[in-house]
Amino acid sequence: MDSLDKLIPCPICRTPIPFNLEQLLRGTSFYCPQCGSRISMPTGTSEKVREALEKLENLRQNQGENKIS
Ligand SMILES: [Zn+2]
Repeated sequence: MDSLDKLIPCPICRTPIPFNLEQLLRGTSFYCPQCGSRISMPTGTSEKVREALEKLENLRQNQGENKIS
């Protein structure tokens, strides 16, 4: 499942850059075929996103518990 199945417009020249979301999240960089601009996730982003999601989930669970008690 490592096919480049998604396209993201290049921020510089708007050329569609083929990329794979799984690979992007794992830190793989992709390059614009037209101008060579690099598309990549800043290091640690996925970790921060995951933490934020977990905090949100905890908040929701806590609120649920408060409602019940
Ligand atoms: Zn480009």
